[in-house]
Order: sequence, then C-alpha cells, then structure tokens
Amino acid sequence: MQNILIWLRNDLRLHDHEPIFKALQNTKNVFLCYCIDNTNFEDIIFTENIEGKKKAGFKKIGFFRAKFLLESLENLRQNAKKIGGNLIIRIGNSVDIIPQIAQELQCQAVYMHQEITHEEITTDIAVEQKLWTQKIRLERFWGSTLYHLNDLPYPVRSLPDVFTQFRKSVENYIKIRPTFATPTHLARPHINAGTMPTLAELGFENENENQEKQTKQQKAVLHFKGGEDAGKERLNSYFWEKNLLKTYKETRNGLLGADYSSKFSAWLALGCISPRYIYEQVQIYESQRTKNESTYWLIFELLWRDYFKFIAKKYGNLIFKQKGIKNTSNLTLKKDFLVFEKWKNGNLGVPFVDANMRELAQTGFMSNRGRQNVASFLIKDLYIDWRWGAMYFESQLLDYDVCSNWGNWIYIAGVGNDPRENRYFSIPKQASVYDSKGEYVRFWLEK
Ligand SMILES: Cc1cc2nc3c(=O)[nH]c(=O)nc-3n(C[C@H](O)[C@H](O)[C@H](O)COP(=O)(O)OP(=O)(O)OC[C@H]3O[C@@H](n4cnc5c(N)ncnc54)[C@H](O)[C@@H]3O)c2cc1C
Repeated sequence: MQNILIWLRNDLRLHDHEPIFKALQNTKNVFLCYCIDNTNFEDIIFTENIEGKKKAGFKKIGFFRAKFLLESLENLRQNAKKIGGNLIIRIGNSVDIIPQIAQELQCQAVYMHQEITHEEITTDIAVEQKLWTQKIRLERFWGSTLYHLNDLPYPVRSLPDVFTQFRKSVENYIKIRPTFATPTHLARPHINAGTMPTLAELGFENENENQEKQTKQQKAVLHFKGGEDAGKERLNSYFWEKNLLKTYKETRNGLLGADYSSKFSAWLALGCISPRYIYEQVQIYESQRTKNESTYWLIFELLWRDYFKFIAKKYGNLIFKQKGIKNTSNLTLKKDFLVFEKWKNGNLGVPFVDANMRELAQTGFMSNRGRQNVASFLIKDLYIDWRWGAMYFESQLLDYDVCSNWGNWIYIAGVGNDPRENRYFSIPKQASVYDSKGEYVRFWLEK
C-alpha cells in the first residue's frame, strides 16, 4: 500500500481539501505535515531608504499573524488526532524538511495545494527536485479560489485586466465546483510529530511585550482565533445565529464592531475555511432564509479575491514592482523613513488615517474602507513608495494574503487593475461619510 504525505501551507483545514481527499482515494496511509520557515520571522530591512539601509522595525510575519498561525496549526492537529492522525510540525527550511519527512515515512508521493507567487513557487520547485532524486513524486492541486483555474473560459494569460469583465465572464456561465468531503480517517505517523512551537521560539521572546500586545488586541473588532473550528464558528455566528448576511451590502463599509462585515478574511488567508464552503453555506442561506443583493454581494467580494489570485498568476512578479502590472506610473514616489514611520504608527495628525493605523498596529485588522484610505494617503498625499506600506501590511494583517494584499496595493497606486485613472480618496470627505459622528476616530485616538 502507498504512503502519501500532505504538505500543508495556506490550506490549514480538513474540509474541502482535494489533496487529502484524493490521497485517501488511493490509500489509507495519509499523513499531514507543516513546516514553519523561521526565515519568515526575521526583521525586514529597507535597503533603499534615502539614508541607506535601515531596519524597518517589523518582521515579515508579525506577532498577530504568528499567533493566529500557531492557533490554526494547533486546531488542525487536534482535528487530525480526532480521526486517528496527527499533524507533523517542524521548524526550518521546507526544502530540506519535506523530503526528509517523506523519506522517513516511506512515502511514494507528496500532495499539496498549488501556490502562485514567487517565493512559494521557488520553494516548491526545490522540494520537487529533491523529492525527484528520492523517487518520490509531487502532485499539485488547485484549491484556493471559488472558481477553479481550469474552469476559466480562457487561459490565465488572457484574463481580462478589468474586474467587471472577468466577473461577467464567469458568473452565470461557469459552475463553482462542489466541496470535497471531509476525511473520516487519517494515519498516525510512526515518527515524532514534533511539539508545537511557542511564540518565543518564533522570535517573539519578550513575554511582557507579548502580553501587552494581547491586552491591546482586546479592542479589536473581533476575537480572532486561528483554526478551522473558529472559522466555521464565525460563519455560523454571522450567517445563522445573528442573521447578518441579509444586510451585508448595507453594512459592509462599516468601521466599528464585529457585525459590519463577515471577517472571514483571516481564516481564508490561511485556508482554515474554504471559499467553496462559504459559497455552499450562502446557497443554503438563500434557500432557507433570504436571497437578496446582500447574499449576492458576499460572493461578489469573494470574486475579487479570486481575481487577485488569477492576476498574480497572469503577471507574476510585476505585482511586487513599483510600476505594477501597467509597468508605467505618473507618480514620483520617495522612500522617506521618517514620514513612513509617522504613517505606520498613526502619528501624522490626520485623525482618520491615524485611527486606522492604530487599529492595525494594535489588533492586526483594519476595515476595507480604512485600508483604501490609509493606502491612498501614503501614496497620493505623502508620496511614499507604496511597497513599504504593502510590506508593513504583510507583517501586520491577520488576513495577509499575498495576492489580495499586493493586488489591492497596486490597484490603489494606479498601477494595477483600476480602470479609472487618477482615483483619489479625499480623507476629510471619506471620514465625513463613513465616520460622520467621529465615533471611530474617538475610539482609536482618545485614551
Ligand atoms: C491596501 C489593501 C490591502 C488589502 N490586503 C488584504 C489582504 O492581505 N488579505 C485580504 O484578505 N484582503 C485584503 N484586502 C481586501 C479587504 O480589505 C479585506 O479582504 C477585507 O477588509 C476583510 O474583511 P472581511 O473578511 O470582513 O471582508 P468582507 O467584506 O466580509 O468580504 C468577504 C470576503 O471577500 C474578500 N474580499 C473583500 N474585499 C476584497 C478585496 N478588495 N480584495 C480581495 N478580497 C476581498 C475577502 O476574502 C473577504 O473575507 C486589502 C485591501 C486593501 C485596500
């Protein structure tokens, strides 16, 4: 009988997991593993600052993301144990570790979900090469979007550059594939599964600082806890208990509290919840409760998420370049660390921007409206290189997703998929519309 190893990355769930499902069709001996790459927890260095090299003052993966990741892994391990398996956890370089585990477990194959962006692909290819020399094959599956890559009505290189054209080409024409059944059995690995690392082991050594961060995070819109169970609980609460889906379209531009939007993004980012699972739940909601513009709009927003993934696949590394996928820009942007620091710490003296930046720093979350405004302000009022902003978001956002983050940043910088030229967010106007009574600003700026 074959042994198959599942290499998990941004797919930390058991439900709707094609690699696990397909592996179990071939054999009972299916093992799960996750490798924490410790280089992701190193400090970011800005190399092109006007004063020369400088520590950015944050890590590639910051505290909130690290904590959410550990919680998600812990939950996956518990759920794997409930069905006879375990989650093997290692810290180090995947390129060495994955082939090593595959060999120890005498696997014939490694199955995984496909990633799209440079760092991830580079690692995949290196792992694949090592596995090849060990006569172990690597199989990739597409599983992070609502619409399957292979179901698009064109090859990804012909993906429209305008979202609306993409949306119209898929909705009503292409079927979203059904979810894969959740496994009922996994094999218990006969090797040491590894202990769950602590935050200190990931470089967050200062206990007092960690405690302080957790205390401040209590002001967050929601208590974000990593893991498949917590993700499904959030959906259950938002859809079924509080019945909020039916008003999503009207509330989604809110700023305060848990209820204005779904808050699914952090669980989606680590794959704790699958977009197709959300889609199926929306369909059930529509048949049992209400079908209206709001129920449609949640799927509409998930389509944006799909779109940025396909755009990243189409344009590769261009999404990380200052001139973006357009490869041209009429903005002259500078790398002024002092101004950037003020923006980052919410000390600009511009209340709506400062309030949002403080929310992000203290909780790891910011509303979509807030993100659009602070990003626009950094680029179009402060003229700072937007890539610094994107890197800070990468460190800080609980829901950091490489394609959604960089895709939205290039969009706001006018070098992505915004069909409108020179879009500008007037901060006073935005604040007066979305925070007319100043409640949000007071919540974050008043002591
Ligand atoms: C500069 C900038 C950076 C961003 N970085 C990220 C990021 O790293 N990760 C991330 O998930 N989202 C990112 N977004 C998109 C958006 O702000 C968040 O998805 C949303 O605020 C998450 O809250 P929610 O789950 O309550 O969203 P809801 O309003 O409830 O939307 C439901 C889901 O739709 C998807 N979605 C909604 N809006 C967008 C969008 N504009 N782009 C892509 N997907 C969307 C998300 O998966 C979200 O969970 C960014 C937006 C901007 C302007």
